[in-house]
Amino acid sequence: ATPTALLAATGRGAELGVLVRGPEVLEGLRRIDTVVLDKTGTLTTGRMELVEVTTAPGVGEAEVLRLAGAVEHGSEHPIGRAVAAATRLRGGAGLPAVDGFAATAGLGVRGTVEGRRVRVVRPDRVTVPGGRLRTALARAESAGRTAVVVELDGRAAAVLAVGDTVRPGSWRTLRRLRDLGLEPVLLTGDRPGPARAVAAELGITAVHAAASPERKAEVIAGLRAAGRRVAMVGDGVNDAVALASADLGVALAGGTDAAIGAAGLTLVRGDIESLVVAVRLARRTVAAIR
Ligand code: ADP
Ligand code: MG
Repeated sequence: ATPTALLAATGRGAELGVLVRGPEVLEGLRRIDTVVLDKTGTLTTGRMELVEVTTAPGVGEAEVLRLAGAVEHGSEHPIGRAVAAATRLRGGAGLPAVDGFAATAGLGVRGTVEGRRVRVVRPDRVTVPGGRLRTALARAESAGRTAVVVELDGRAAAVLAVGDTVRPGSWRTLRRLRDLGLEPVLLTGDRPGPARAVAAELGITAVHAAASPERKAEVIAGLRAAGRRVAMVGDGVNDAVALASADLGVALAGGTDAAIGAAGLTLVRGDIESLVVAVRLARRTVAAIR
């Protein structure tokens, strides 16, 4: 490919909402045969909403929400935003101050609020007693929702079920990617239930769930070792390592700076449909040059 043609295509890409780090990215893109997709915020809107709150016996819903919301207020994860937003709506007034806030990618958040240790985390990282909370976890799982556990002073106090919806355009985009000969793979830190629900809705058969950020990178390395040429599409802090380890990292604008920094390609419209546009552009450009 001549540098001039690639440069022209790069400019055309920018007009179409596809930003490439350098002209060589287009050459790499036409060789891709596998597209690994993050779930939350990529295939789904990422605009999660708090749909159900289940508290342990003796724990007040308003109190749990106030404490969890205060800690999640510092999170940029879609789950955190949903919890903080719901709390602000219900609580009205300002949230209490948080000491020692910490967010762990792919795990959750913690902090101290009004002298109480609060964590909002992945259910498999806490001991959830049988009864109401355990039932709420199972219910969320079978409904394809994501559940997180609120822990107060080391004890499970509530289960929050958060619902996310598949983006309206995801189904069509997936079909187009397949038409271009690209195999989709779903790779998510979320649990198998919600992962399978989204995969089934979109007809994706290759699914890797409950993947930590490191595990995501391993899955990609595995695909590459099997001879696949892999593009990874993601939007979150938790995707940065995976984006960097793929043949091509693709970030959605509106995602986190970490993801955009690790990507060769940024989809300015914040929508995976632009990936189809980018692949077509790359193939056309290289074909025209030959
Ligand atoms: P995905 O790959 O689908 O974007 P992540 O890797 O970001 O998922 O998160 C994996 C899991 O870690 C979530 O399903 C949730 O259980 C937990 N988690 C991550 N961030 C938060 C948070 N801010 N609050 C509560 N739980 C969180
Ligand atoms: Mg994500």
